[in-house]
Amino acid sequence: MNHLNRTSSRRNFVTRVSAGIGAFSLASVLPSLSATASVRKSGKLGIAFIGLGNYATKQLAPAIEQAKDCYLAGIVTGTKEKEAVWKEKYGIKKENIYNYENFDSIASNKDIDIVYVVLPNSMHAEYTIRAAKAGKHVICEKPMALTAKEGQTMIDACEKRNVMLSIGYRLHFDPNTREIMKVAAEKPYGNVQYVQSEVGFTIGDPTQWRLKKTMAGGGAMMDVGIYCIQAARYATGEEPVAVRAQEFKTDNVKFKDVDETVSWQLEFPSGAYSNSTTSYNARANRLYVSYKKGAAQLEPATKYTGIKGTIQKRVLDVQPINQQARQMDGFAQSVKSGTPSIVPGEEGMRDMRVIDAIYRSLANGGRRELV
Ligand code: NDP
Repeated sequence: MNHLNRTSSRRNFVTRVSAGIGAFSLASVLPSLSATASVRKSGKLGIAFIGLGNYATKQLAPAIEQAKDCYLAGIVTGTKEKEAVWKEKYGIKKENIYNYENFDSIASNKDIDIVYVVLPNSMHAEYTIRAAKAGKHVICEKPMALTAKEGQTMIDACEKRNVMLSIGYRLHFDPNTREIMKVAAEKPYGNVQYVQSEVGFTIGDPTQWRLKKTMAGGGAMMDVGIYCIQAARYATGEEPVAVRAQEFKTDNVKFKDVDETVSWQLEFPSGAYSNSTTSYNARANRLYVSYKKGAAQLEPATKYTGIKGTIQKRVLDVQPINQQARQMDGFAQSVKSGTPSIVPGEEGMRDMRVIDAIYRSLANGGRRELV
């Protein structure tokens, strides 16, 4: 990366950080509102969730009830029994309920402005592209795709249909995490020397899609390792140039198809480096940043609530906020105002390029430059 590109990516980073801080004051959480036609008349955008699994059911649906710029207008599900339950619980109109076969007819539904893809990873590209072709703006969950190449097809499809694409990076809307980004942008403690980030959990059900390479694209690395990449990038405010990765496996049956534990080191243009570990077999959730003159840490660093830590002696403990409500409101505000999302498809692509390089390093060994 040449100097010009580096300067420009730092400027973009600073802009993204300040844009998000501005968005916070607009996106303060309001008392619960239900999804009705009168709400729509008040200017909220309609969102349809595709894939009513754990994340949509337990996090996004309760969160959107707290949103002030969007509401749950529709659903897309392959499970017939979920239709009546969601219709009843969230007051969804019958004509706003779709399945995977008739989904494309959502194009003519004026209630739906945004489609939120909450499907297994291997389905993200197909449904993002179909949503874009239907003329809908899209939020796609992380990881945006299985590879950077596939991610680019999603960005291209959205650009072609002139719709906006955002990735479900909720942490960019967490105030304590944003303080870490702000320090990276403003450098009050000098350059970042070192970042350590670790995210892991012990995965259950051995039959789930997360353990199938064709559906997940990879194991812990794709699923939660992506948070470590994000952390290293937003804690430095830089884009990595090279990576070395190592894999550890204790269970060749459960993890025959995907990675169980991966560690990797990223090199950044300024000389900063990061060391990260992700695992489906160990619990970890923290971020540590060493600056030239000080340090910051978050623990937990990626949970839905309770993110807290310190920057030097300053305690970061702004609570409570609903990350997902802010994230969906943030995107609705972007769509309404025509201003870019702070977590656009390109942000997802930056992580996909790192993930591609990590898997290249695991497959072939050694240091791999990012392409
Ligand atoms: P689940 O397995 O709980 O749900 C996935 C849903 O997708 C299913 O319930 C089903 O919904 C639908 N689906 C369609 N086809 C299939 C299929 N062949 N196999 C399995 N499910 C299918 O997954 P999660 O909700 O945990 O994760 C979904 C996405 O959200 C993933 O990409 C994940 O990485 C991301 N995620 C993001 C988080 C974040 O913090 N940003 C947190 C958790 C997940 P239906 O029955 O309605 O068709």
